[in-house]
Amino acid sequence: MRPPSRRSSESSATPSPSAAGRAAQAPRKETGARRRPATASMPERASYAAPAPAPASPGRPAHPARPALGGPPPHAVYRTLLAAFGPQRWWPAATVWEIVAGAILAQGTAWRQVEAALALMKERGLMEPERILEADDDALHAALRPAGYFRRKAERLRLAAAEVERFGSLAGWLDAARRLADDALRRRFLELPGVGPETADDLLLYAAGRAAFVADTYARRIGARLGWFPPDVRYEDARAAMMAAWRASTTEWAELHALLVELGKRHCRARRPDCAVCPLRAGCAHATGRAPAFPAVRRPRGA
Ligand code: SF4
Repeated sequence: MRPPSRRSSESSATPSPSAAGRAAQAPRKETGARRRPATASMPERASYAAPAPAPASPGRPAHPARPALGGPPPHAVYRTLLAAFGPQRWWPAATVWEIVAGAILAQGTAWRQVEAALALMKERGLMEPERILEADDDALHAALRPAGYFRRKAERLRLAAAEVERFGSLAGWLDAARRLADDALRRRFLELPGVGPETADDLLLYAAGRAAFVADTYARRIGARLGWFPPDVRYEDARAAMMAAWRASTTEWAELHALLVELGKRHCRARRPDCAVCPLRAGCAHATGRAPAFPAVRRPRGA
């Protein structure tokens, strides 16, 4: 399984996603008094709200397919990229908790830095929710230091671990989560402090195995150039438009996200995209000079 080399573009309380900014980001020396770890003791195990009447089956969005994108059809883009780059097989992780930890650590950080922090967590016996809660600040900060912003990320990891521990175990948390429909589960992820739409979709897709389009910076940039979205499309609008247009399986959504990141790194860079060798050039509005034909994005009232 090839590790992803990606960066989260989520900006909620995170640094700018600019490449230069993050590349230059060196873990700051932080000091802090040791404090008692957060605890999540509850008299009884928690449970999520009653299951929705008709939970969506994993891999298939509940809404019907309808055309909502301009540009080349998403399935054609997917097949072209898959043929060009091969399966990416994201997310490389041994356990669901490792996916959760990786998604939190990836916020505003290059993946190689995340890998270094994950390796330290494993080496020091911190790759379990209960161990995160037991660890003191110094130990946790030292393990997370390679991922940058380690103080903030340590707190987010603790909050996520506390949420898991409310259900007694990772298995208990997963059982409760599986009873929720896709939208309800996404809202649960979004309620976790520091988790924004991109990380919520990473968790929904890779940890929970639900259909989700991760409309990160790469996807929105490529989508705008292809003609899928307007250049200034918002995260939720791009996500909704794509998921309305393509009834993909969970595996296809997972691969599409990885393939778009790969395309963004190899050819469709923010500046001077390398269109001459891009596998999508024939159908790309930017490369061919055709006017993009994206439809108007319909936003709900008050949005
Ligand atoms: S043809 Fe150029 S602009 Fe279009 S997706 Fe490829 S690299 Fe990006």
